[in-house]
Amino acid sequence: MRAAKTSADVIVFCGVLFMAETAAIVSPDKKVILPRLDAGCPLADMVTPEALVAKRKSLNEIPVVTYVNSPAAVKALSTVCCTSANSVAVVNRLGAQEVLMVPDRNLAQYTAAQTGKTIHYWNGYCPVHEHLTAEQVLSVKEKHPNAIFMAHPECRPEVLSLADQVLSTSGMLRFAKESKNTTFVVGTEEGILHPLQRENPHKTFYEASETMICQDMKRISLTDVLHALEKLEPEIKIPKEVREPAFHAVQKMLDISRSNLLSSTLERS
Ligand code: SF4
Repeated sequence: MRAAKTSADVIVFCGVLFMAETAAIVSPDKKVILPRLDAGCPLADMVTPEALVAKRKSLNEIPVVTYVNSPAAVKALSTVCCTSANSVAVVNRLGAQEVLMVPDRNLAQYTAAQTGKTIHYWNGYCPVHEHLTAEQVLSVKEKHPNAIFMAHPECRPEVLSLADQVLSTSGMLRFAKESKNTTFVVGTEEGILHPLQRENPHKTFYEASETMICQDMKRISLTDVLHALEKLEPEIKIPKEVREPAFHAVQKMLDISRSNLLSSTLERS
């Protein structure tokens, strides 16, 4: 949303490839730079356009809901995109009772449970979240019995069943700030601990597991950013025939998110 809104001509994206691609999809007139092209996402790599075309043929004409953690060419074949923050709203908004969701199976199963819809899921997963086990969570909960356990929906179902709150990263930041509780166990990639601690200096955050580290998210260094700014490369370019249908799927998601935000603001006022 910020990429689409900014008036800057150049966006340097310090994240992973699918994020920079998404910025390029919504900002065709801007130059989008990803300082390291090898900053990928193993989850996004688990779905290809060819495999999605084959899967669609095996199912009836049902909508395809694609998590933003996916390649641009896969978004281009999708009905609508979603994030972990809005997957439930997006699926609820679709008229269909049956959908195909790619590529994260854990997010799909969580969304199915929340919406009551039939969701055919892709067998992809984020290795960082998949490796968090129920035993690890129980052990950290035992050490901090008063802590609220916040889990990301990319975690396995048995981990989510132990969660006090299932939240996206943006949801965790908001919840921790608004909560009266002062201790939290965090079940997502460890990088979120920095903004959580910065925004809540008097609250305490524990990692659900010390192994929740994504090497791809950490690939870009300050030196890489400096080189990218000096040379304005490597640029992420999406061919028009991919960008236009992908834009449609992303835009549909942004429209649903905005109208949902508007409804909840009206409900609160
Ligand atoms: S934590 Fe890393 S592997 Fe997992 S979804 Fe994010 S970028 Fe991909």
